[in-house]
Amino acid sequence: MTERQAIVSRILNFSCVDGPGNRLVLFLQGCNFNCINCHNPHTINYCNDCGDCVAGCPENALSLDNKGKVIWDEGLCTHCDQCIDVCSYRSSPKVHHLTVSEVLSIIHGQKWFISGITISGGEATMQLPFIIELFERIKDDNELGHLTCFVDSNGYLSESGWNRVLPYLDGAMIDLKSWQQETHLWLVGRSNHKVIQSIRYLAKNKKLHEIRLLHIPQKSDLDQEVDNIACLINQLPETVIVRLNAFQHHGVEGESLQWDKCSEPQMLNFYQSLRLLIPHRIQLPSVYV
Ligand code: SF4
Ligand code: SF4
Repeated sequence: MTERQAIVSRILNFSCVDGPGNRLVLFLQGCNFNCINCHNPHTINYCNDCGDCVAGCPENALSLDNKGKVIWDEGLCTHCDQCIDVCSYRSSPKVHHLTVSEVLSIIHGQKWFISGITISGGEATMQLPFIIELFERIKDDNELGHLTCFVDSNGYLSESGWNRVLPYLDGAMIDLKSWQQETHLWLVGRSNHKVIQSIRYLAKNKKLHEIRLLHIPQKSDLDQEVDNIACLINQLPETVIVRLNAFQHHGVEGESLQWDKCSEPQMLNFYQSLRLLIPHRIQLPSVYV
């Protein structure tokens, strides 16, 4: 049987903010949301090989093959990111196509220094068959038995999709971007019904590790809807962590660059209203830049 392959935008060997402990994080290319405030907009789409970024590469690290596909030579690339600036399609030519075995070999190289792996994105679950095969093989591998397998997701996956990965999944982190349908639709391009369903379903199956709330003052509605948010969180086990993220300008483009950043006092106000309503552990941001 042919192995699954993933389109990977980045690998981080160590992270302590993408799940419990020290984790290796795989960021997959492609997302089914189109957030106005995305802080990694070049991970949203798969490259369509239009070739617009090729000629401008100052290091000749980009070329077109005889089938018209863009080829990236990582050895020549200096990561100046000119290609990402040129791309009007919210994509990047700088991706790796990695098989499950290739990713496993990277994990083996790091296995004594990490407590688990997290698949993030883009939207991780867009490449669900790869995740399932990878997690299954980690669980079958005696030398990797100590590693936990986590997914960081926008929560848009259906119940049947979660069911396929649940046997191998140790935990999930899910973003809730806003409460009212119109706000969510405006902010990300899709409604939040499936996100809330995922939060409830993962919690019911004891796989919800963390719910993440991004506070964007005057744009998202999480602070105005704090009673409804608390009502949802109070239906989740107390072991679920609530992580508050403050909107900043790093990586964003377009109209969201004009939005006010979330200041520490604004975040503390939101925290204090939520603190009064839920018993769960609430994690505040450590930096506001
Ligand atoms: S980041 Fe893009 S434009 Fe810059 S050297 Fe690498 S491939 Fe070329
Ligand atoms: S990365 Fe963007 S500009 Fe470059 S070939 Fe792909 S779609 Fe075109």
